[in-house]
Amino acid sequence: MYDVVIVGGGPAGLTAGIFAAKRKLNALVLEAGEPGGQPLYAFWIENYTGFNKIEGKELAKRFVEHAKEAGVQLKKEEVHSIEKKGSNFAVKTHDAEYEAKSIVIASGAKCRNLGVCGEHEYLGKGISFSASCDAQNFKGKRVAVIGGGDSALKAAIFCTQFASEVYLVHRRNEFRAEEALQADLKKSSVKLMLNMEPKEFKGDASLRSIILEDANTKQTTELQVEGVFVYVGNTPASSLAAKLGVQTDEKCFIKVDRMQRTNVPGVFAAGDITGGILQVVAACGEGAVAAVKAYEYVKSLEKV
Ligand code: NAP
Repeated sequence: MYDVVIVGGGPAGLTAGIFAAKRKLNALVLEAGEPGGQPLYAFWIENYTGFNKIEGKELAKRFVEHAKEAGVQLKKEEVHSIEKKGSNFAVKTHDAEYEAKSIVIASGAKCRNLGVCGEHEYLGKGISFSASCDAQNFKGKRVAVIGGGDSALKAAIFCTQFASEVYLVHRRNEFRAEEALQADLKKSSVKLMLNMEPKEFKGDASLRSIILEDANTKQTTELQVEGVFVYVGNTPASSLAAKLGVQTDEKCFIKVDRMQRTNVPGVFAAGDITGGILQVVAACGEGAVAAVKAYEYVKSLEKV
């Protein structure tokens, strides 16, 4: 029996684990992949307090080391279901079932697809969702980055170190990325393709081009590229929570109050899964609050 099971080993989940461990809760963090979360795939993280700029992988490594030093129990298992079991919760993975008095859901968000023809076919054959992992495979080649947010601009600037030409394809003529990144983009060699929507990916054994449609004239253009990095936002991984009866908003982000409480007593949520500004520093803060509130919840059960 655990006091709290934390689903997800990213910044929010690991911070929740640290705060739970410091309060001597019997806590378990379950993470399907490598612990560290989204920072593992970020080139660099800016404005995480104490660091003007730090490499994403380095920050993730420090989070994991900190959690281990704090005594957080971390298991590499994917959670398949969370169900109510009397006044507790049953958390099922492929290998085991854990019982917990409270739950912190910190399973984050995953990269959104474009949903256009050829995207699935050329995934791993030219199309990637992580420039930090794959950009070096395109040395001297032409690549495109799709999107207009912080992630896309960072990826495009990063790719200029390797590719011969980098195109940034965005469906509008304004970016939602922060001003400082837009200024960096202007200084870079990235070529802009604005008001352009990807319609199809084409190639042979690997990707060769993208068909783009001008949003105003509806004319199509074929852009010859061997690599494409898709950065069109994230979708929250909230389906497990929804099955437990946890309320989500219209975009599937979990609804929480300021104490990270969901509508289900004993279930808390933290990090990107709750929406908001989707920044690492915010995820950590939410993880800390969720663990403190889970602690208070568990202690209140003992008084009953
Ligand atoms: P985002 O801000 O949601 O931007 C997604 C971009 O993709 C938007 O420009 C959007 O266009 C475009 N897009 C969405 N669907 C599309 C489609 N079907 N076809 C073509 N384009 C499409 O996503 P993000 O850049 O991953 O950032 C997510 C959050 O993480 C943000 O809050 C961001 O600030 C944060 N973040 C922060 C950092 C940092 O270092 N501080 C780094 C990365 C991310 P429209 O603009 O037209 O909607």
